[in-house]
Amino acid sequence: MGHVKTKVTLVRATNESEELIASAGKLCYAQNTQQIFRSDSKVAGEFVQKLMRMGHTSPIEHAVFTFYIEGVSRAMTHQLVRHRIASYSQRSQRYVDHKCFEYIVPPDFEGKTLEIDGEQMDAVTYFEQTMGLIAERYAKLRDAIGREGEKANEDARYILPNACETKILVTMNARELLHFFEERLCMRAQWEIRNVAGEMLKLVKNTCPAIFGKAGPKCIRLQSCPEGKKSCGHYSQIKKRHNAVSETLIETE
Ligand SMILES: Cc1cc2nc3c(=O)[nH]c(=O)nc-3n(C[C@H](O)[C@H](O)[C@H](O)COP(=O)(O)OP(=O)(O)OC[C@H]3O[C@@H](n4cnc5c(N)ncnc54)[C@H](O)[C@@H]3O)c2cc1C
Repeated sequence: MGHVKTKVTLVRATNESEELIASAGKLCYAQNTQQIFRSDSKVAGEFVQKLMRMGHTSPIEHAVFTFYIEGVSRAMTHQLVRHRIASYSQRSQRYVDHKCFEYIVPPDFEGKTLEIDGEQMDAVTYFEQTMGLIAERYAKLRDAIGREGEKANEDARYILPNACETKILVTMNARELLHFFEERLCMRAQWEIRNVAGEMLKLVKNTCPAIFGKAGPKCIRLQSCPEGKKSCGHYSQIKKRHNAVSETLIETE
């Protein structure tokens, strides 16, 4: 039992995805369909960029990406699974017992203190002690049900915290991924899902630069923040940083 760190892995991606998308796009206009599956990667990339500029994004749905995400909280995956155009498989709290569950400590607790019975205490220590207490009670409640396995796990899990570590496999197509990045790379998104979205974008950017080279929070595409009074107020800095990253990508291609 203890504090864990996030790990995001791209486990599968559509092979030669830009070529496939270019073929899908060309098929729509092709009188002669014999050549549609033959294109070199540079031409395909340029064609995909053209589709993106025109906003013809349905062909990019043919490219799919599967990520394995570990060391994240249930609080994070609860938000992730709200994205409906995706497929998910998540480690079960019924089939897997959580007597020694790992957990995520929000970084903002680091360096903070709180008062317990007139004594100052480190917030991370307090958080960790609370996790320990929950684990102890989880085990006792599980025993109280007097059963092993699925039935005991399914009721004892009611006291597990949002911080509880989980593992999830997620598959999204490129169109949904772009939407996911727009929503979850926004500074208004919660820090943990924003970090995961950032890791996912790093993994697909070089695999599919024609699609993801310019991906970012929605303010980048809209060229302003639509959040009104709730805006983070940092659009200019975000745009500058985003442009610098996109230029680096182009240079390394
Ligand atoms: C900063 C932030 C704060 C949030 N706060 C809250 C909150 O307080 N409470 C809360 O409940 N949620 C909250 N959410 C979640 C949010 O409301 C969405 O559920 C989540 O972002 C999934 O996005 P989506 O529905 O656009 O997209 P997805 O499910 O990823 O779908 C992609 C797109 O497909 C289309 N689509 C999908 N399903 C349908 C459908 N059934 N009918 C029509 N079109 C469809 C839509 O165009 C949609 O944008 C928050 C999200 C963010 C980013």
